[in-house]
Amino acid sequence: MNSGVIIYQVALDVPLRRLFDYLPIKNDTNILPKGTRVKVPFGRSHRIGIIMGQQAHSAFTPEQLKAIDSVCDNAPLFPEELCEFIEKTAQYYHHPIGEVAFTGVPLAIRLGKPCESLTKNDETIFPNEALTLHADQQNAVDLILSKQDEFAPFLLEGITGSGKTEVYLQVASAILQRQKQVLILVPEISLTPQTQERFIARFGEVTCFHSRMTPKQRLQAWLKVRYQQTRIIIGTRSAIFLPFANLGLIVIDEEHDASFKQQEGFRYLARDVAVLRAKRIQCPIILGSATPSFETIHNAQTGKYHWLRLPVRATSATLPEMILMDIRHNKLEAGLSNALIKEIEDSLKKNQQVLLFINRRGFSPTFMCYGCGWLAECERCDCRLTFHYKKQMLICHHCLHQRPEPNECPKCQATELHPVGQGTERLESFLQIRFPDVSMARIDSDSTRKKGSLEELLEKAKSKEAQLLIGTQMLAKGHHFPHLGMVAIVDADGGLFSVDFRSIERMAQLIIQVAGRAGRVHEAGRVIIQTFHPDEPLLQHILHQDYAELAKELLVERQRSALPPFSHLALIRASANNPHLPETLLKEVQQALQSTSQGQVSILGPVPAPMLKRQGQYRYQLLVQARERKPLHQLLHYSTIFLEKSKLGKKVRWSLDVDPIEMF
Ligand code: ADP
Ligand code: ZN
Ligand code: ZN
Repeated sequence: MNSGVIIYQVALDVPLRRLFDYLPIKNDTNILPKGTRVKVPFGRSHRIGIIMGQQAHSAFTPEQLKAIDSVCDNAPLFPEELCEFIEKTAQYYHHPIGEVAFTGVPLAIRLGKPCESLTKNDETIFPNEALTLHADQQNAVDLILSKQDEFAPFLLEGITGSGKTEVYLQVASAILQRQKQVLILVPEISLTPQTQERFIARFGEVTCFHSRMTPKQRLQAWLKVRYQQTRIIIGTRSAIFLPFANLGLIVIDEEHDASFKQQEGFRYLARDVAVLRAKRIQCPIILGSATPSFETIHNAQTGKYHWLRLPVRATSATLPEMILMDIRHNKLEAGLSNALIKEIEDSLKKNQQVLLFINRRGFSPTFMCYGCGWLAECERCDCRLTFHYKKQMLICHHCLHQRPEPNECPKCQATELHPVGQGTERLESFLQIRFPDVSMARIDSDSTRKKGSLEELLEKAKSKEAQLLIGTQMLAKGHHFPHLGMVAIVDADGGLFSVDFRSIERMAQLIIQVAGRAGRVHEAGRVIIQTFHPDEPLLQHILHQDYAELAKELLVERQRSALPPFSHLALIRASANNPHLPETLLKEVQQALQSTSQGQVSILGPVPAPMLKRQGQYRYQLLVQARERKPLHQLLHYSTIFLEKSKLGKKVRWSLDVDPIEMF
């Protein structure tokens, strides 16, 4: 390459792990800074890209290179800090940098639309009166604020109602006074209105960012963040990729929640990425939860994170009483023991609100022939079909395939076909018959599909218009139901015997989170847990609300078996509509990696995924595990080079999942 020429490296939204070289715009001598949005020729069409760097050399000759067509904005749209964060994140996840760069970016910006015209009035922030903090809260706020100009990660561990949100508000208030921006990440869209309300009540105005907003609203929010016309941003995971002009604090509420992980495409964990961003910006980050992830607890135990605890409820509300209900030898109706039905009845008579938690939607998870034992299974996945009574359909919860309820068994033609087991729908229909005069609300992803219906149902639940609530984990998360007197966990045993090493951690989080919904205001709540394994020591910890002790014990076990956080994992997944191709491809990868790994990384597999067939695709995986991150990342880097070159790799869909949180 001849000297004196600038070559720009541009990130394009394509699934390739590289930047693309372009020459400057013809007859234009201006130097385009990093972060500039440009239009470039690509193949036979044009694309919008972001300049990520420039250099004097290219692997291509000038004749092979094309020139940038045009510049979209007068000044770089992506701040330099964001560009560097994108680079680091793409490196960490071994993901195509262009896809990382455009994560969460509104459509208009991706399409190259001009976006200079924007309302220029700044939001006014006038902090309303703050509560007088309790000693533990004050201690937390003081410590966080003593480190407001440096990278300082905090675990704020506090039971539900202990006043974590008040800590966020008061720390935020101090940061805002210095004209800096504050980002609050929440796991679910349904939790944004509630967090939003509390921040609005305190500060007047906030900006939200999540996927249920219209493209126009998202664009407005993105630009406001970019041009510092907003200072408080509440969003779901992709908000971590917003172009902050002056970020001073990140809060991750319910940091343990699996929704922070994107489970397809670019599989990032917003919590981890947020820590990375705080580190680059040199600002504090608060990870708050009643049931922190074991990874975070480990980081606090080893002193990497400051550990702040709020052990008591902030108001006079007492903790709920936890009761383990032994249901061995019991006859169950719709999954409920007689003793539990009696408890529900008593609570309803006392005019208390009751919540029944079951983590399964639909009528029954199994549909069976009593003549021959045939089970209705999905043709495209290795799983059973869930029976939905109202729709009279058998539905696959993995590929959404549905078919009508059969009249006779396809195998033996018997007509004794029956639903087996329970989901929310069956529980609801049983309770409607048992308690015909009680108002009910069922909250799961079926009942909340229509826009606005979730908000409506939650409102009914909060106002006690519905006295009996039936729900899945949608109900377990973060919502405040001030009238709730009793919570029943219909099936607590699900997580006890799973093959996934995180299942007990998850089950404990779920039970404690659901329990946290009870008795938040005045009445002491009751939490009843139905189980066939009342002597299980893990359930005993949950019963005594001793999450910390549970975590400590399970972490010792993880250390013994060298599982995360005591080692690091990555999955290389491959799938195709033929079972041989993905397995062969991964065998090739495994052989190639084996020769380079030098024993610091163990490579397990290829093995079929726990659910081999899904949506008609056969899925295999290779698990890579290492004590240290560095050799793991070297190996992953090598594997992407191998896969991108591989011929078979073009016929098979493959992806990398760094720090996977589930193996399916
Ligand atoms: P968390 O976020 O930990 O669940 P919240 O911040 O929602 O807890 O606090 C629970 C309740 O206690 C709220 O109604 C809140 O207004 C109240 N509260 C929090 N801190 C205080 C305080 N220092 N004094 C009085 N009430 C408080
Ligand atoms: Zn049959
Ligand atoms: Zn299916």
